[in-house]
Amino acid sequence: MGKRGHVLAIPFPAQGHVTPLLKLSRLIASHGHFKVTFVNTHFIHNKLAASTDPLDDVVLASISDGLPDDSDRTDAFELWESLNSTMSAHLTELIESINASNCDEKISCIIADVTLGWVLEIAPRFGAESVGFNPTSAASFAIILQIPNLIHQGKLDCDGNLKGSENYVRLADEIPAWRKDEFGWSFPLDLKTQKLLLECCLSGEKAARSRSNWLLCNTFYELEPSACDLNPKLLPIGPLLASKTRASCSSLCVEDMSCIRWLDERAIASVIYVSFGSLAVLSGRQLQELALGLELSGQPFLWVVRSNFTIDGSKVEYPEGFLERVCGGRGLGKVVEWAPQERVLSHPSVGCFLSHCGWNSTLEGLAEAVPFLCWPYFADQYHNQSYICDKWKVGLRIEQDGDGIRSRDEVKKKIEILVGDDGMRVNALRLKEIAKKSVGQEGSSFVNFHRFIDHLMVYKG
Ligand code: UDP
Repeated sequence: MGKRGHVLAIPFPAQGHVTPLLKLSRLIASHGHFKVTFVNTHFIHNKLAASTDPLDDVVLASISDGLPDDSDRTDAFELWESLNSTMSAHLTELIESINASNCDEKISCIIADVTLGWVLEIAPRFGAESVGFNPTSAASFAIILQIPNLIHQGKLDCDGNLKGSENYVRLADEIPAWRKDEFGWSFPLDLKTQKLLLECCLSGEKAARSRSNWLLCNTFYELEPSACDLNPKLLPIGPLLASKTRASCSSLCVEDMSCIRWLDERAIASVIYVSFGSLAVLSGRQLQELALGLELSGQPFLWVVRSNFTIDGSKVEYPEGFLERVCGGRGLGKVVEWAPQERVLSHPSVGCFLSHCGWNSTLEGLAEAVPFLCWPYFADQYHNQSYICDKWKVGLRIEQDGDGIRSRDEVKKKIEILVGDDGMRVNALRLKEIAKKSVGQEGSSFVNFHRFIDHLMVYKG
């Protein structure tokens, strides 16, 4: 076989980052002109191999994250420090070995998650094109790019908090403002964690300023035109969805397929799907309020409760008798540890998505026209909530009370309002159509993606 382009893609080691970049990698591979190697840390690689079928379109490779094998990687500070100090060397070694093994398949392009900004500096050393990939909204990325300016203008202090009398930051009329403690790096409960998040964001900011001429973003222009216009380098190519790239194959946990059979037996648009993504956690009391709110609502629900879902890592405790009363036999609800989310959201029985508003979940819900009940935890989730509720009008907030708790009555009330609201369903259907068009033949994301591919075709030399 003659010389062909070889794309190496490397995500940040977390579910919400691995999923969209793997989808993009498979989309590039499906184009047929490129070999694609997807590089995880050994830890993520092993999880992926244990929970999904092997891929035949993308080569999976892995490198060390610098931590000992027996570390559970739950200490975010330790992981970040280790990635920063060891990953460049391990990746460089891998690229050298790939390039030495076949002269006709040398790495011609590196696509790196922007959070791993330093990776983009490696590409030019190998004569490869360097491309940043942003897995959040264009707006969430735009505010990150403004951090140095906002600090310089005195609007933010150097820990990323609003200063003095400032109540919010707005980047454009059409983009919801960021209020106090709602930035992607905000973590008001713990300043040390906030500083870490700010550092991760600044790594992305550095990536955007790097020599990379391309910043691919998992969004579509029509969804957030003002935010896309703020950065001329940004190329919206989303929504990246499993259905567009064959099977999903990106879960780091085993998907419990029994919930699809359970959904098959429920009425059309009746089920509340409840999922908080891969990282969000609840206190014991909060979890109990949610459980009781779901029960009180009287609506069928499918709830993803991960084994690490509690704030202190303790065992999940449901209200007394809850599982027997609600989830037994032909009961109202079903609890699973991990669901095939995109399949669940596309199921006709699902009528509402109670979500933490991670960007992947947001796009997945939009793509299936499922209205949202919003329960953000951290990072970009508060701003995604503002988009959902204030801008696109496809969801409602579940508000906290004075003690910072979302009560059972509030959960019940918002479920009732959402279930009875046709306006939000109409808005959601409209957005679904626009999303579909953007990735369809000659749609905006389709055209952008092919512009990128055409560039790579020339660049592979
Ligand atoms: N997800 C899944 N099954 C679940 C819960 C989540 O497959 O039971 C997937 C979901 O489809 C999404 C990803 O995990 O693609 C979570 O990403 P998101 O950005 O929504 O949240 P994060 O986990 O990064 O907070």
